[in-house]
Amino acid sequence: METIKTDIMAMSVDEIEEWASGMGLEAYRGRQIRHWLMKRLARSFDEMTDIKKPLRLLLKESADFDFLEKTNVLLSQDGTEKYLFRLRDGNMIEAVHIHEKDHSTLCISSQAGCAMGCRFCLTGRQGLKRNLTASEILEQVIQVKRSVKEPERLTNIVLMGMGEPLANYRNVLKAVGNLISSDGMNLSHRKITLSTCGLIPEMKRLGRDIGINLAVSLNAADDETRSYLMPVNRKYPLSRLIKTCREFPLPNRRMITFEYILIRDINDREKDAINLCSLLSDMRAKINLIPFNQSSDSDMAQPSMEKILNFQKILLDNNFTAIIRKSKGRDIMAACGQLAGQAAAS
Ligand code: SF4
Repeated sequence: METIKTDIMAMSVDEIEEWASGMGLEAYRGRQIRHWLMKRLARSFDEMTDIKKPLRLLLKESADFDFLEKTNVLLSQDGTEKYLFRLRDGNMIEAVHIHEKDHSTLCISSQAGCAMGCRFCLTGRQGLKRNLTASEILEQVIQVKRSVKEPERLTNIVLMGMGEPLANYRNVLKAVGNLISSDGMNLSHRKITLSTCGLIPEMKRLGRDIGINLAVSLNAADDETRSYLMPVNRKYPLSRLIKTCREFPLPNRRMITFEYILIRDINDREKDAINLCSLLSDMRAKINLIPFNQSSDSDMAQPSMEKILNFQKILLDNNFTAIIRKSKGRDIMAACGQLAGQAAAS
């Protein structure tokens, strides 16, 4: 019978030391292994050359990591890369690596599929397959760091890939803990952003538990339109969502980002922009306007550029920071709302 090995990838220093002690090893071995995993990005125990071979063999028999198989990397004309990963149970997930001038950002997945069913999102059409483990979330960052020429440029992480991160709260928090801890990936909590469709109880927990950036996928300024686009709005309507955002503990000078996917004739009218201004009035808010990314089988369309600019102007005239996001990686289906674990078919 095959023994079940311990998943050590996302263990904290304390946990891995305790595990090493439980194995009859000196506790420092735990710290040594963690250094290999997090700093040297080891793929196997064989690479851990300062551990003697008999001990490496013992570790191999009892511990496990490296859960993602990189099956493909698609390169966009704009330089964006979409990584396709196969999980050990065959489910597929995606991560998108976006190059900026002086750094790069990785958009990672938190679930295989998603239960939230947002109308504009390909992931939502799949339904939920399962939550990712903390190790599977973390390993997306590790795998991409291993693959790129300058891993130190990868400083920003956004949890905006497949899945609703707050629906997988415990594992997401554990993975994020590893991303920001000095003995982990040592990234700044200011450079990590979690995007939610608006799960209010978990948003409140998040505000108490960890100081990372919050983005809210808003997409409408009235309940009727939002419920049409995002079924979650029926459970957590706008008034409650915005109240939670207003009460969210924001460190100095930080803002909540509101994402607003502009869809032709659904949420792109002047009155939508005006409603949005009153909904977010007096908030420390930044609005990202994302022109809808058309997929071949969607009945929704992108507004004209004139309408997009007019929408933005209304927000700017009301003193909001409103940015039209240039969608990167559209040609490889890596842009917002286009992630669907497509390698499943390849
Ligand atoms: Fe899920 Fe986000 Fe897609 Fe909505 S937009 S279905 S929350 S992945």
